[in-house]
Amino acid sequence: MRADTEPFSLYIHIPYCVSKCPYCDFNSHVVAEIPEKSYTAALIAELGRYAGLDDWRGRPIQSIFFGGGTPSTFHPESIGKILERVAAQWPLVSECEITLEANPGTVDRANFFGYRACGVNRISIGVQSFQPRLLKFLGRVHSADEAKEALAVVRESGFDNFNLDLIYANPSQTLQELAADLETALSFQSPHLSAYNLTIEEGTPFHQEYRRGSIQLLSEEDEIEMADLIEQRLRQAGLERYEISNYARPGFHSRHNVNYWTDGDYLGLGAGAHSYQKNRTDGSYGRRWWNEKAPNRYIQAVSWNRQAVAETEQPDIRKAAGDFMFSGLRLTDGISLDAFAARFGQNPVTFYPQMPDWISEGYMEKNDDRLRLTRRGLMVANSIFVHFV
Ligand code: SF4
Repeated sequence: MRADTEPFSLYIHIPYCVSKCPYCDFNSHVVAEIPEKSYTAALIAELGRYAGLDDWRGRPIQSIFFGGGTPSTFHPESIGKILERVAAQWPLVSECEITLEANPGTVDRANFFGYRACGVNRISIGVQSFQPRLLKFLGRVHSADEAKEALAVVRESGFDNFNLDLIYANPSQTLQELAADLETALSFQSPHLSAYNLTIEEGTPFHQEYRRGSIQLLSEEDEIEMADLIEQRLRQAGLERYEISNYARPGFHSRHNVNYWTDGDYLGLGAGAHSYQKNRTDGSYGRRWWNEKAPNRYIQAVSWNRQAVAETEQPDIRKAAGDFMFSGLRLTDGISLDAFAARFGQNPVTFYPQMPDWISEGYMEKNDDRLRLTRRGLMVANSIFVHFV
């Protein structure tokens, strides 16, 4: 397929939050007043510039994702204005998936009807837990009741397609608490659920507490037991695991995220947003670039140049092959060996001589064209993934 007709995904970063959660290392900022107008204007200027470039002009958009930060801090008028400009510049595939991330602490009933009316057709809601003590530990701004109320509003405002995020393996969390969270989540008939184990990211308040010893993570066995419980209970309820941390009913996979994991092109707009273009005419193995992270500097850069690129990287074949493996093996369906060979001209074993051992030790399996992590491999995925980065 020629690069200029291949569909791509559009990511739009809204970097503002009501408060900063102590485990979070995303590009999110708490400010006295969110500059919604000037940030929206910057996004519109930036997308207008990309729409005029040969690499992106006229290509169909298959998914749009408003991520953050907390995109639900923006009014439907701003989200609608951005979507209008996107639709004026690019064709959208029929049933284009348009997701907006929301925090239960910022759910306003009228706004949710407004998001639906302006074209958003999927909500991803960061519940994390329904247990008051765990919400407190995670520093969330919302209560368990607010999370339930938010989910009810999501459904009432016409979103049949939505995701609910949970965090598990919190220190001192019990299996019973996790089971209760799963039951509450399932009672809302969520067609998609993401369950992330708590990780301690450098530079966060949790990292400092962890180093001081005031946070102790669960043992690996406890974590695996929780992961097993999640997989079993969700499968019983009709949600299949299709990625390390993601579960969906048939037809409700996140198309936007699947595009990341299957080496698809994406364009990122907004502060700190990353972009990727696979097919290049210069013989390289794609190009990655990312924007200025600080929201104010992003707005200023776009007002001067209609772009805010901070850095660009052209991966060599080894780096590109590693990215392909790292992303694709997150999916329970794994990677296509034919697709790998078509892109890199070789079998992955050329780059990763340990692969036969991973297969014989039961961490990976090969079935015709597919190479995937086994259940055992998924449990220790990070120790395999270090070979790809
Ligand atoms: S709401 Fe989300 S993006 Fe904002 S600080 Fe918390 S975890 Fe980070």
